[in-house]
Amino acid sequence: MPAPARVPLILAPTPLHPLPALGARIGLDLWIKRDDLTGFAGGGNKGRKLEYLMADVLASGAEIVLTCGSLQSNFVRQLGAACAMHGLRCVAVLMDLPYAPETGRPAGPALPPTGGNVVLDALLGVETIRVPDGTWDALFEATDYVAESLERGGHRVYRIPVGGSSPLGAYGFVAAARELAEQGAPFDAIVVPTSSGSTHSGLAWALHGTPTRVIGVACDAEPALVEEEMMAIARGLDELTGDPKGLAPEDVEFRLEWVGAGYGVATEAGGRATEVLARLEGVFLDPIYSAKAFAGLLAMAGSGELKGRVLFWHTGGFPTATTGLTA
Ligand SMILES: *Cc1c(COP(=O)(O)O)cnc(C)c1O
Repeated sequence: MPAPARVPLILAPTPLHPLPALGARIGLDLWIKRDDLTGFAGGGNKGRKLEYLMADVLASGAEIVLTCGSLQSNFVRQLGAACAMHGLRCVAVLMDLPYAPETGRPAGPALPPTGGNVVLDALLGVETIRVPDGTWDALFEATDYVAESLERGGHRVYRIPVGGSSPLGAYGFVAAARELAEQGAPFDAIVVPTSSGSTHSGLAWALHGTPTRVIGVACDAEPALVEEEMMAIARGLDELTGDPKGLAPEDVEFRLEWVGAGYGVATEAGGRATEVLARLEGVFLDPIYSAKAFAGLLAMAGSGELKGRVLFWHTGGFPTATTGLTA
């Protein structure tokens, strides 16, 4: 089957380099994949998904692209940039902090309501619709309502799920796994933050059956992510590629220990992980995603669960971090 169509957005391959000082301290041959440095709209993992999603948007002839997320969504920022570059309207339905029904609204300092991606979305001309905080399902319902009213108004709307997590979005990480393979020897393990699931599931699908473990560290307290969203994405990749791998939930390593209070609330362990990586290697993490995943990596190195040649997949997020951190 031919590869899905692609619109170029990012500067790939993104850099891959060792973290020698930190690696020596924790006893790993530690490397980092710099998807924070995609060169597209502030960087981050969403650029890879958008290369395939935007090709489908352009082929559809839609004039409005609709998505949803949290107010400081990195996906909305990068989608807004891609739409602006192609002369399309971008409409985003946003909650300050959507939450999982299992946990309720997490206690703790929420993301800042100004600065960071909020400023960049406005700069890019994203049309934002803010709705009161509630569960993710409440956000999806509000987005359905907006879609219906735009369609009733005679507009052709292309809908993209939260975080760009569809099989087509995940295909960006199937391609990324190939990019990584071309950059050098395989890894024993890859550690990556996971939230809407297509970064993790794209890599897990691509590396299934190889000696490389792909460990997703949850940034969102959603235990059903693997059984529901990620399995649906994996089945979608089976179809999209014509290369069915038949992934089962037990083929996906998904770790919930480092979520903390919930999505969007920073953790102390994440803060410490951010500091150690900054001081030993001069690399910055963000508090919502990469800091929690890196805290997981450090804990798994400490417990002996991680050994050998290990890769941290840096998914970006720095524009939020600039306003999400307090000194
Ligand atoms: C969206 C995002 C993630 C999570 O990726 P998913 O594919 O949604 O699981 C991780 N890190 C950053 C910085 C992000 O913006």
